[in-house]
Amino acid sequence: MAAREKSQRIGVFPGSFDPIHNGHLDLVERSLGLFDQVIVAVLDNESKRPVFTVEERVEMLEELFERRASVRIESFSGLLVDFARAVSAGTLIRGLRTGADFDYELPMALMNRRLFPELETIFLVPRAEYADLSSSLIKEVCRLGGEVSGLLPEGVRKRLEGKLRG
Ligand code: ADP
Repeated sequence: MAAREKSQRIGVFPGSFDPIHNGHLDLVERSLGLFDQVIVAVLDNESKRPVFTVEERVEMLEELFERRASVRIESFSGLLVDFARAVSAGTLIRGLRTGADFDYELPMALMNRRLFPELETIFLVPRAEYADLSSSLIKEVCRLGGEVSGLLPEGVRKRLEGKLRG
């Protein structure tokens, strides 16, 4: 058992997930085809004034993935490479939507490699219909009263509307 656990391929999918949307879900599904276990790691970034607390974000993710034994939800603060080391992950998973994502991600991936050379970063591309989704755009549209259903899970949408529209 211990040997099998040791050889498990563990991928970490880090992010703010404030809130999770269909683009993120698409990436988790794709990651499950590549890894034995996917750890969705929620960044504890209260200083960025997220709409949802880290506890709320973790709770929503746990609800969404409660029947998926190969998905684990954690929160982290501090260096991502330290978190990856602590959970014995070999790979970081990030999403690429546009060239702007690539420009932002490449220096981070190279810095993470400096800090932890054995840790790989892979980039996954979502389905085209989710490639324009971002948590910040969804929050902006929702705040202004626009329709966001179909872009994120229903329960999450309701909680977001509760937060932003009171
Ligand atoms: P961060 O603040 O780390 O960018 P996000 O929650 O915005 O946190 O994103 C987490 C990860 O999910 C990032 O790798 C991001 O590129 C990816 N991602 C966000 N939106 C999408 C999307 N629509 N399709 C695919 N990947 C996405």
